[in-house]
Amino acid sequence: MSAPDTTTDIPDEVRARHTELCQELDDHSYRYYLGNPVVSDAEYDTLMGELRGIEESCPALVTQDSPTQKVGAPISVDFAAVEHLVRMESLGNAFDVDELNAWADRASAEVPVNGYLCELKIDGLAVDLVYEKGRLVRAATRGDGRVGEDITLNVRTIDAVPERLDESVRPAPELLEVRGEVFLPVEDFGRLNEGITAAGHAPFANPRNAAAGSLRQKDPRVTATRPLSMIVHGVGAYSPALDGGGDVAFTSQSQAYRLLGEWGLPISDLYRVVSTMDGVREYVSHYAAHRHEPAYEIDGIVIKVDDFALQRRLGSTSRVPRWAIAYKYPPEEVTTRLLDIKVGVGRTGRITPYGVMEPVVVAGSEVEFATLHNAREVERKGVLIGDTVVLRKAGDVIPEIVAPVVDRRDGTEHAFTMPEFCPECGTRLGEQKEGDVDLRCPNARSCPGQLRERLSFVASRKALDIEALGYVAATALTQPLEPAEPPLRDEGDLFDLTVDKLLPIRTHVLDPDTTEPKTDPKTGEPKVVSFFANKKGEPKKTVEKLFEQLEEAKSKPLWRVLVALSIRHVGPRAAEDLARHFRSMDAIREAGEEELASVDGVGPAIAASIREWFAVDWHTEIVRKWAAAGVRMEDEDDGSRPRHLEGVTVVVTGSLERFSRDGAKEAIAERGGRATSSVSRKTGFVVVGDSPGSKYDKAVKLGVPVLDEEGFRVLLEAGPDAAAARRINPEPEETGEEEAGAGNEETEA
Ligand code: NAD
Repeated sequence: MSAPDTTTDIPDEVRARHTELCQELDDHSYRYYLGNPVVSDAEYDTLMGELRGIEESCPALVTQDSPTQKVGAPISVDFAAVEHLVRMESLGNAFDVDELNAWADRASAEVPVNGYLCELKIDGLAVDLVYEKGRLVRAATRGDGRVGEDITLNVRTIDAVPERLDESVRPAPELLEVRGEVFLPVEDFGRLNEGITAAGHAPFANPRNAAAGSLRQKDPRVTATRPLSMIVHGVGAYSPALDGGGDVAFTSQSQAYRLLGEWGLPISDLYRVVSTMDGVREYVSHYAAHRHEPAYEIDGIVIKVDDFALQRRLGSTSRVPRWAIAYKYPPEEVTTRLLDIKVGVGRTGRITPYGVMEPVVVAGSEVEFATLHNAREVERKGVLIGDTVVLRKAGDVIPEIVAPVVDRRDGTEHAFTMPEFCPECGTRLGEQKEGDVDLRCPNARSCPGQLRERLSFVASRKALDIEALGYVAATALTQPLEPAEPPLRDEGDLFDLTVDKLLPIRTHVLDPDTTEPKTDPKTGEPKVVSFFANKKGEPKKTVEKLFEQLEEAKSKPLWRVLVALSIRHVGPRAAEDLARHFRSMDAIREAGEEELASVDGVGPAIAASIREWFAVDWHTEIVRKWAAAGVRMEDEDDGSRPRHLEGVTVVVTGSLERFSRDGAKEAIAERGGRATSSVSRKTGFVVVGDSPGSKYDKAVKLGVPVLDEEGFRVLLEAGPDAAAARRINPEPEETGEEEAGAGNEETEA
C-alpha cells in the first residue's frame, strides 16, 4: 500500500492522533524550556517517535509547524525577542550503535569524512553569545532556532562567560557569534536544592531544570546567586578581525575550539578527534561507563564531522545538521505512578517508608520499589500516593523518587501517614530518642521483622558470610507457618540449630520478583512447602551446606563477629578498627566509653552506641551463647606477623588473582593497616587488579603510589618502604603547586 498523498486520503483517527500529538509535544516543549516539564525526556522521545511514524506513513500531514520540523519552542513574553545571526539547530538522535553507524554511512556516502570530533552532550540549556570587537553585547536562548529571548543581563552573571575576549594571543574578530551549553555543576545542584527546600520551596528535579529555571529569572540578581557555568560547542556568524590582525578563518571544529579557547571562551577539555568510527564507538562506550565522572550531567555524546568544509557540504535539514548526531544514553530519569507508600522494618527497628510504583525501566533495569527513608523525607519531597513521580537511577546508585510532577495531579491523590503500629508485630511505634527523625519498633528482640533482617544480616557478606542462609531462609527460620514457635528466639540461638529443629519448618513459596506468596493455580490458595525437608521428609542438600558454613563462621575474625551483632553504627570499618585495637570481645565489652571513643576511626557516637548495646541483657546473652557454641571471640596475635602497616591506609580496586576482596582487607588489617574504599591524598597505596576503574585514575592524578598484585605482596611481606620502590606509576614531581595543593588533603573529587 502506498502512503496517502493528500490529507483527504488519511483516516480520521490518524489525522486526529496527529493533531493531538503535535499539540501535546508543543506543550511539553514549552514547559521544558521553562525548566518545568511534566513528562520525562524518554516519554517525550517516545511521543516524538510516534509522530514521526505517522508522518512517515502519511507525508501529507507534514507541515512546517509540526514538532518534527521545528527546533525548541516559541519564546515567552518575559524577555525581549532577538534574532540569531545564524540559525541555531537541534541535533539528530541515535539511540543505539546501528543508528550511529547508519548516520556515519550516510555522511561518508556524500563526502570523504576524515575525522570525527566526539564530545559530551551536556544536559543543559543552549545559549547564543554575540561578541562585537571582543566585547559581549548579547546573549540569548535558542528559542525556536531563529528568534530567541534576550537574557544578556543574566548571562553576564556567569563567571565562565568572559565579558571581553582575551586578545593576548590574537586580536578578536570584529564579530563573533558562539553557542554553547549553560549548566549547573552536579555538586552545586545538591547544595542549591538544599537551600531551596530549606526556604520551603519545591526542589528542582535535576540540574537541567535548575539551570533553565535559574537562567530565565526576570531578576538577574537571582541568577547571580546560582553557580551556573558554560561550555561553548559551536560557532555562528563571524567576520574578520580588525587592526590588520589577519582574517579569522575557522577550518574545523577542533581548530575553532583552539582559537575560541585562546580568546578565553570556556571550551571542554574532554573532546577528542578520532579518524574512524572505531574511535567514535570507543569514546561512546568509555563515557557510557564513566558517565558520572564529568562535573556536569551528560545525556549522551555528540559526534561532529570535524572539517568545516565537509560540514558545509553535508548541510542541514529544517531542524538538524547532517554533519552531527547525538548518541543518547539510556535515560536515568523516568516518570511513573506512585501506587502506594508502604513501610518496612529494618534490623535496628527503623521503620522505613518505601514507594511502590508502576514497574518502569530506568538506566537499563526494571524498578518497582524505591526507599523514601523516613516520614520527614516523604514530606520534604511532597509526594502523594497516586502521584506521577520522577524516578531517578544514576549508575549503581539505588533508585530514588526525586519529586512529584505536581501539574499532573487530578485530585485523587492522597497524603501518606506513618502507621502507629509496627506492620510486623503490631507494637506501638515510637521515637527512640528525642529529635530522632526515624520512627522505630521498640520490640527489638522479638519483632519477627527485625529478627529476620538481623538474621539475614548476620549471614551477609559484610558479616559472617553464610551463603546458605539467604533472605528467604532467614524468613523461614523467623516466620515459619509451622511450627507456630520458630526455632530461634533470637540470633543467639543460630549456632544451636539442629536438623531436627529445621525439618518441621513450613513456609509460603515467595515469588522472587514481587516477594508475595505464590498461589496454587488449582486451589487459588497460597502455596505452602517444607523449607528444609524434601518430599520424603529428609533434609535437603542446603541443610548440610548450612551446617558446614555455620561451622566455618565460628572461626571468622573478630571484626566480622562484631559486625554480625548489628550494633548501630558499627559497620565493617569501625569493627576492623575496634578489633585491631582491642583484639577480643571481652576487652571491647569491658572498655569504657572514653577509651572506645579514643580509638582511631571510632569516635563518640560509635562508642556510645557500643556501650548502649552491651547494657542490654539479651544482647550480652547473644555473645555468651555464640561463645559457648564455639564462635571465636578474639583475634589471635602470636606475634608472627609484622605490624608494619600501622598507620597506613590501602585501597584495593579491581580483582586480584590470589586474594578475594575480603581476604586482601584482612591481610592488611592483620598487619595493622587500614583498608579503605576511597582514594584521597592521604591514601598510602592503591592496589590495582584487573579492571581497576576510576580509583586507579584518581590515584594517578593525586600521585598516590599504585601497586600491582606483586607489589601488594611486597607491601604485606616487607612493608611500605620496600613496596614504594615497586610503584607502577611515576612519582609526582615536587613543585610549588603540589605544595599548595597538599593543604587540601581531604578534598575528594
Ligand atoms: P537535544 O537536547 O536532543 O540536542 C540538541 C541540543 O544539544 C543542542 O541544542 C545543544 O544545546 C545541546 N548540546 C549539548 N552538548 C552539545 C555539544 N557538545 N554539541 C552540540 N550540542 C550540544 O535536542 P533539543 O532540540 O534541545 O531537545 C530535544 C530533546 O529535549 C528531546 O529529545 C527530549 O529528550 C528533550 N525534551 C524533553 C521535553 C520534556 O517535556 N521532558 C520536552 C522537550 C524536549
